This record gives sequence, structure tokens and C-alpha cells, in this order.
Amino acid sequence: MESFDVAIIGAGLAGLELCKQLSQRGFSVLLVDRKSDLSQQIHTTGIFVRKTLEDFDLPAHCLGGVVRDVRLHSPAGQQLALHSPFDEFRVGRMGALYQHLLEQCQNLGAVFSGNTHYLGSSKSTFGNVLHLEQGGAAIAVQTRFLVGADGAVSSVAKDLGLDLNTEFIVGVEDVLTNVPLNGQPCFDVYLEPNLAPGYIAWVVHDGEHVHLGTGGYAKQFKPAHALEVFRQRVSQQFDFSKATLLERRGGKIPVGGVLKRIIQPRGLLLGDAAGAVSPLTAGGLDPAMRLAQFAAQMLEQYLGGDSSALSAYNASAWRTRFTSRLWMRRLLASVKQPHLLELGFWCLKHQPLKSMAWHVFFGRGGSFPDLEYPAKKAVRYEL
Ligand SMILES: Cc1cc2nc3c(=O)[nH]c(=O)nc-3n(C[C@H](O)[C@H](O)[C@H](O)COP(=O)(O)OP(=O)(O)OC[C@H]3O[C@@H](n4cnc5c(N)ncnc54)[C@H](O)[C@@H]3O)c2cc1C
Repeated sequence: MESFDVAIIGAGLAGLELCKQLSQRGFSVLLVDRKSDLSQQIHTTGIFVRKTLEDFDLPAHCLGGVVRDVRLHSPAGQQLALHSPFDEFRVGRMGALYQHLLEQCQNLGAVFSGNTHYLGSSKSTFGNVLHLEQGGAAIAVQTRFLVGADGAVSSVAKDLGLDLNTEFIVGVEDVLTNVPLNGQPCFDVYLEPNLAPGYIAWVVHDGEHVHLGTGGYAKQFKPAHALEVFRQRVSQQFDFSKATLLERRGGKIPVGGVLKRIIQPRGLLLGDAAGAVSPLTAGGLDPAMRLAQFAAQMLEQYLGGDSSALSAYNASAWRTRFTSRLWMRRLLASVKQPHLLELGFWCLKHQPLKSMAWHVFFGRGGSFPDLEYPAKKAVRYEL
């Protein structure tokens, strides 16, 4: 039976980043995904925020144009324009980015098993035996450590007896080209309780591609229908007459905050599987990369023989960062009366709420805590 130091289930951003980081450290890594081609069936819009763009080395050819403007829209048509002097957002060309990261992993010696389904795992003296299926053939593999980077609904979490996401929104979007850009690239955000209950509808135009989408609680709307109505609603601002549909994307987004139990001696959870998504913005790309980097640092110690290292992967310390964001989104989701929403929006256009809105969209605040392994010691000041 083939054996590896680490097996990672899921070659999304979280799995790929961890695979790269562990391979760089000399570990033997098996990366498994049910997709045969990582550039297919992408589910994310791919908006990277300034903090990620500054802290991680994402190749320019995998990123769209710079976006520095956000326009917020109320249902009745009030608008709030926010501008940043910094390069705040860039939409990832996710297919190209996944392929680029995969190549890096393979060049570093990682083994990629595409078109391969993770079926389950069991405890062994080595660590874990994985049961995989590729093209109808069953494969068993040994691994010292197992990582569940298998997305919002994680099978690995179940097998390892770790926590599962329970609170979700769903998002659906069309990626279009040939839509004229009027003015600067912009991220238009629409508060639309009917078309996006509990979340937002959006149009991101980065000069080349347009992402037109909506998200919300699955039980409260019909995503595909809402997207159609939304497209008509914004067709006065955007000329879709010559638009070409490149692809439709969509999927579940866990918005309950980081889960409590995301690690045990045989394995851990990463990215969406760990619930590492901002409950307010539903941004999961920055958390996926940051948590992968931290997990690699921790695993280097753990697999090197320091069994105490696991305790640093401590979700309860990170969960507090998410609490206020979780309640902010639940509060926003609960405001359904049109006049209250318009009044709230009017307040947003004036200080101090305008500054708060600026900080939600811009700045280096980030959707996930800065992680450093080992954790920095608190600085003591002599009085
Ligand atoms: C519509 C939508 C728009 C979004 N937009 C943004 C955005 O603009 N910015 C942002 O920051 N976040 C966004 N998010 C959230 C963000 O996309 C996710 O948080 C992030 O992609 C999670 O990455 P991941 O690697 O954890 O999981 P995933 O990208 O879901 O990767 C999981 C991988 O595991 C594989 N897999 C699953 N089960 C198995 C199995 N049994 N066997 C083998 N392989 C398996 C899957 O094929 C997949 O490749 C969006 C989400 C959605 C749904």
C-alpha cells in the first residue's frame, strides 16, 4: 500500500495552498480531488481582498483588473459610493489559479490524484487508511495525517468525528463578458431582501469580466429565478445586450463561523470544511489561505515529533473574531420592513456609519485573524 505523510482531500484553494506549503517543507503529500480538471465546476466569484493580495504571492496572470470602488444600493434606489486610494479587490481567474498552484505542488513532488473520490478512512497503526475510488477502481492508501479541505459539506469531518457546518447561505452567479464598462471597475452591492434574503446581490465589473450574482438563505428564495429578476433589475445600469455567458457558478457557503472541533490527532479541517468563512461578507478565500499557512507551520512541528503542537490549531481562539460579524449579519437579515431598511441605508450614508461601511469593505481588517505560529507572546510594557 502506498503511504504518505499527509493526504489532503480537496484541491480547492485551501487544499492546494496547504499542499504547496507542506511539499515545500519536504513532506510527502497526496492531494485528492473528485474533479479531473480543476479549472472546471468552479463555485466561487473569486474576489480577493487587499489583505490577501498584499500577504500572498498570487500571480498577476491569475487576477483580473484592480477594483477600488464600491457602490451600495438600497431597494428603493438610494446609493452610497465608497472609494479607496488602495487596490482593494481583484477577481481571481480561478481556473488558471488552481492550475498554477497545482503545477507548483507537483513540481515540489506532491502527488495529485484527480477524478478520485474520497469514500472514507479508518484508524491504523500508521495513522489512517484512506479508501478512495478512481474510475470504478477501489484504492487504499496509508497516511500519517489526514486533512479535510473538502468544502462546506465535509465527509472527512464526519469520519474524524469533528464538527460539521450547519448554517449556510447559497450563492449563484453568471460570469459574463462583452458588457461595456461605464467609468471605473466597480463592485456594486445591492441590499435586496427579496432577491437576496439574508445576504446581498452583486455585480462586479473588473474591466473584462462581469460577475452578476445573488445569495441568501436557501429556504427563502429560488436562486436561479432571483438571479434572472436581478439581471433585469440592473439592466438599466449595465448593457447586457451583447453579453456572452462564460459560465454559471454557485454553491453553499457556511456562515456559522469557525467550527469548535476542527482537529484531532489523526487529522484536521481546513477552509470551508472548518467553517473558516466570514459570517458577514461570506468571504472564504483569505481564511482558506491563512489557515492553510498556519496549518503547515503547525504540522511541521507535529509531524516532526512535537505532539503538543496540535493545541495551537485552536478554533475557540479564532471564533471570537467571528462572533460580532455573525450577529451583524443576523441583524441585517432580520430587517425586512422596506421603510426600516431605507432608514438604515440613509444612516449608512452619514457619519459615523459611513466610516463603518468603508471599513467593512476596505482596509486591512481582514475576515480572519492574523495567524502566526508559534503565537506571538504578548508584549509587556514596563511602567
Ligand atoms: C457563489 C459563491 C461566491 C463566492 N465568492 C467569494 C468571493 O468572491 N470571495 C471570497 O473570499 N469567498 C467567496 N466565496 C467563498 C469561497 O469561495 C470559499 O470559502 C472557498 O472557495 C473555500 O475553499 P475550500 O478550498 O475550502 O473549498 P472548495 O473550493 O469547496 O474545495 C473543496 C474541494 O474538495 C473536493 N471534494 C469535495 N468532496 C470530495 C470527495 N468526497 N472526494 C474528493 N474530492 C472532494 C471538491 O471537488 C473541491 O475541489 C464564494 C462562495 C460561493 C459559493
